[in-house]
Amino acid sequence: MKAVRVHPKGEGGELRLEEIPVPEPGPGEVRVRVAWAALNQMDRWMCRGVPGFRFPLPLTPGCDFSGTVDALGPGVAGVEPGTRVCVAPGYSCGACLPCGSGRQNLCRRFGIYGETRDGGDAEFAVVHAENLIPVPDGFPLDRAAAFPLTFLTAWHMLVDRAQVRPGERVLIHAAGSGVSVAATQIAHLWGAAVMVTAGTAEKVRKGLENGAEKGVDYRTGDWVAEARAWTGKAGLDVIVDHVGADTLPQGLWLLARGGRLVTCGVTSGRSMELNLAPLFFKSLSLLGSTMGSLGEQKEVAAHVFDGRLQPVIDSRFPLEKVARAHEKMESRDVFGKILLEVGGETG
Ligand SMILES: [Zn+2]
Repeated sequence: MKAVRVHPKGEGGELRLEEIPVPEPGPGEVRVRVAWAALNQMDRWMCRGVPGFRFPLPLTPGCDFSGTVDALGPGVAGVEPGTRVCVAPGYSCGACLPCGSGRQNLCRRFGIYGETRDGGDAEFAVVHAENLIPVPDGFPLDRAAAFPLTFLTAWHMLVDRAQVRPGERVLIHAAGSGVSVAATQIAHLWGAAVMVTAGTAEKVRKGLENGAEKGVDYRTGDWVAEARAWTGKAGLDVIVDHVGADTLPQGLWLLARGGRLVTCGVTSGRSMELNLAPLFFKSLSLLGSTMGSLGEQKEVAAHVFDGRLQPVIDSRFPLEKVARAHEKMESRDVFGKILLEVGGETG
C-alpha cells in the first residue's frame, strides 16, 4: 500500500511516500481503509523534532482519519466490515486507575495514532476497535476526518479544565489554528462570548464568521488593550492559549478574579518569565491540558454529527502531495484543517 513515512533525519524526520505491506489487525484491532486524513501540528513536530521527546521513527503520521472498516482482528465483535467510521486518535491501556475512571488521557500508556504508532496517512491503518466512531449516513467522510483531535483538545480545555459557563468572556489566541477554530465554536455553544486574536485581517474576519464576537489582528493592533476594552476592565474569565511565551505572561494580567488560563501548547516558546502576583491576588487558575477522554471524544462527535459544531476545512491535497500540504501548514496561511485525500469517499 501507499503510505507516508517519516524517517529519522538529524534532530527530526524526513517525509517520504513509500510502498509498504498492508498491516494486519491483531487481537482487538480493526483495519480501516482510509478515505481522508487531516494534518495536525503533530506532523510538523515529528519532522522538526521535539527536544526531550523521541518519536518511534520510521512512522506513518496522521492523527485524524476517516474511512471504512476493512478487516477485523481476532476477538473483535459488534463491528461490520464496510461501516463508515472516523477514529478517536488517543488510545490507552484500558486497565489502570485513570482509564477505569474515564480519564484515558492521564493513562501512563496513553498514545496517539500518528505519534506513538502508525497513523492514517496511508491507504490502510490498524486501530483499536474501541477507537472507532461510526459516521452517520449522509455525513461526508472528509468532514469526519477534520474534527477528532482538535475538537477533543478544545472541548477538554474549555469544558473539563476551564469549566466555561454561559455569559463568560473567553479570549482565544491564533483564531485560524485547528484547536482555536474548535474552541471558538465550543465556547459559543456553551453560551460564552469570544474574542479572538489572529495574524491577518482575513483570519480575524473568518474568526468572526466562526462565532467570535470580537477579533483583533495582533500585527496591527494591541490585543492586550483591545481585550481590556472588550471586557470593560472587568477582565477575562477564560483564556485559551497555545502560543506560550508571546502571550501567556500578559494573559495572567488580563484575567478577572477567579479567571482560568488553559494551555495546550507553546508554539512561540516554552520558557518565559511569569509574575505570579495576579495568580494568588485574583485566585486565578493556570491549567494544562492534553487531549481528553474517550467519552468526551464521543460527546464531541455527537455535536459534530448533529451540526452543533462544524469542522472547518482549509484545503485538500492528494496523498501524493503530502509535502505540499506540510508546506502549507508551515506557512501559517491556514484557517481550519488541511486534508489529505487518500481513497476519498468510499462509503
Ligand atoms: Zn491506562
